[in-house]
Amino acid sequence: AKEDGRNQTCFYSAEYEQRLVERTRAERELRDALQESRLEVHYQAMYDASQRHVVGAEALVRLRSRDGQLVPPLTFIPLAEETGLIVPIGEYVLRKACLAAGKWCKQWPNFRISVNISAVQFAEPSLLKTVQAALDEGGLSPQQLELEITENTLMANVGAARELMQRFRALGIRLSIDDFGTGYSSLTYLRSFPAQTLKLDQAFVRGHLDDQGDLAIVRTIISLGQALGMELVAEGVETNDQASNLAGMGCQTLQGYLFSRPVPEGEFPG
Ligand code: C2E
Ligand code: CA
Ligand code: CA
Ligand code: CA
Repeated sequence: AKEDGRNQTCFYSAEYEQRLVERTRAERELRDALQESRLEVHYQAMYDASQRHVVGAEALVRLRSRDGQLVPPLTFIPLAEETGLIVPIGEYVLRKACLAAGKWCKQWPNFRISVNISAVQFAEPSLLKTVQAALDEGGLSPQQLELEITENTLMANVGAARELMQRFRALGIRLSIDDFGTGYSSLTYLRSFPAQTLKLDQAFVRGHLDDQGDLAIVRTIISLGQALGMELVAEGVETNDQASNLAGMGCQTLQGYLFSRPVPEGEFPG
């Protein structure tokens, strides 16, 4: 039994070491990508549900590996958050996005750019200054920028979140609660957050035509948002049936492959 225990320890530490090596390699790759400007920001258009014209875009980061492959964010954002690299990465995305949006605001009236803010960035005192600098650099007015913050980020520290949100609102910057319905916030919390937009998670959007449970959630979120005077955005819209149903239920803004995929700046709106 003693020997077993020792072998086990051995086994685990070898596995642990391997994971550490892999993580170190991944972290180096991420740092290099940032340094070598191999991070790219792609943009997915958002459309007015009734007129079907462009009303804005969501900025979505990608990593270009050395061999030219495009690496999706979910494979490096968690590591970026753990290592703190999400702070410079997030700043890069904000600046790029505001510069791109400066041009699009001239092309489309009331255009707004939406940028994802991770929980780690949201806890950084420097975020406010970073956002202000990006706005100035892009020549954007504050109401043309919307920060997407997930329900879970907000619920991690409700008091601090509310306070920071109020400071962004005081500047005139728009706030969107992303992935709504996937967390556990109650109506009471939702009401206390000064956000203008509620973004329906794509899991519910995808399922709502054939799943009664998803449909019930979508209806509930829409009526919740309407009661609070919020704009409702549905993401992950892939079919015409989904689009017309969501529009009929009261979603003002639609985003998804049906209309456009995320594309490089030069190809926008795709
Ligand atoms: P998210 O904020 O929920 O972004 C929406 C995701 O849904 C994007 O995936 C988008 O490409 C995808 N999507 C849009 N329409 C459709 C559709 O019709 N069908 C399907 N199947 N998917 C659709 P993406 O770009 O891979 O990003 C994944 C997640 O990575 C984002 O989810 C967000 O949480 C995170 N992320 C992306 N860019 C950034 C960033 O700059 N900063 C931070 N902190 N997170 C980011
Ligand atoms: Ca988002
Ligand atoms: Ca989302
Ligand atoms: Ca999501």
